Amino acid sequence: IEESVAEDIIRFEDSFVGIDKRYRLINRIGEGTFSTVYKAEDLEYDRFENNWDLDERENKKWTSPQHRRRASKRPHYVAIKKIYVTSSPMRIFNELELLHDLKYSDAVCPLITAFRHLDQVVAVLPYFQHRDFRDYYRDMTIADVRLYFRSLFTALRSVHAQKILHRDVKPTNFLYNPEQARGVLVDFGLAERQGTDWHNCPCTLPANERRSRITNSVWAQTMQPGVQTSSYPKNDVRSSRRANRAGTRGFRAPEVLIKCTQQNTSIDMWAAGVILLTMLSRRFPFFHSADDIDALLELTSIFGKKKMRDISLLHGQVFETNIPSYSDNGHSLEKIILWCTGRTKDEKQKKIEMGDEEKEAVQFLYRLMECDPAKRITAEDALRHPFITKAFE
Ligand code: ADP
Ligand code: MG
Repeated sequence: IEESVAEDIIRFEDSFVGIDKRYRLINRIGEGTFSTVYKAEDLEYDRFENNWDLDERENKKWTSPQHRRRASKRPHYVAIKKIYVTSSPMRIFNELELLHDLKYSDAVCPLITAFRHLDQVVAVLPYFQHRDFRDYYRDMTIADVRLYFRSLFTALRSVHAQKILHRDVKPTNFLYNPEQARGVLVDFGLAERQGTDWHNCPCTLPANERRSRITNSVWAQTMQPGVQTSSYPKNDVRSSRRANRAGTRGFRAPEVLIKCTQQNTSIDMWAAGVILLTMLSRRFPFFHSADDIDALLELTSIFGKKKMRDISLLHGQVFETNIPSYSDNGHSLEKIILWCTGRTKDEKQKKIEMGDEEKEAVQFLYRLMECDPAKRITAEDALRHPFITKAFE
């Protein structure tokens, strides 16, 4: 390992008194905004007490004494997540508590334990062997894609069943092992319980009520009394709308960008859709926006101005743009994928068609990148969708 990593490990062992008695730190495997993650060997791991991380098959083998003896010699690896001291105690508590609640959830990396030394907190998770997304996403067949999403939706189904929003679904937070076609969802640093910061958003009202509420409120808020103007107010006295925007640029659902105040678990399904778009278009990252406005414009270039206006109204917001290059109706996802993969025209300038399997994937993509959160497919339904069930056949 690199010298700087080795030094970092020594510094960590020195600052977290006692950690090296229980764990042998091996390498640094992740470094992010909120944490550093190390691979370590658990020196005191008792396989026979803690066998929750084994699948059933492996568990059964252990009934034989020979297997028990052999297995106990195998080193047990863990991932130690050192959460930066700059994170608020509430944030750290939230992450650990949600992980604890999700302990028995399928395809979610469970929390083994957590330690605190002074202001430093570490979470200990089973080490999950996986591959870097960048190394395989370009080579995935549609069959591989089905398996990947079967695993991801299994994780999301169990998280969503507990009314928890992950909020940061993206390739680096879903550790996937293509050989085993199995993955685990990690990083609940931004996760929250649904409904913790809900304020009424028109998107939850029936359509007719919504319409009257929106026209009234937009009118009431935009217009100064007695002043007839159809342009933007010069001194806008409206308080800006606040909503949870936590997540990663490029994976935020339209309703997050529009600041819907009643976001629900469907935001994670949108993010899964962005991963699927990445695989099909062979472009990572697919979106490059610098901020939320930019991100909205990127979506406008795909879905068109009309759809963006409609979904903004859904959340009681008005969408306007004076950029002429955006079309009203946008482009089909199929066309975008063909463009991204350089397949728009062949040598004879004939339009290239997609294969049937890929077309199926695009139809499924439409169910994930559905701009109206109420119509977007849920994880549970996604697992019953033919695109996913085919992985079993
Ligand atoms: P952060 O909040 O800093 O993003 P994560 O929980 O996402 O922290 O972990 C960062 C990285 O560390 C992951 O992208 C992954 O590469 C690695 N990692 C995290 N947990 C594990 C684990 N259980 N097994 C193997 N690698 C892990
Ligand atoms: Mg992460």
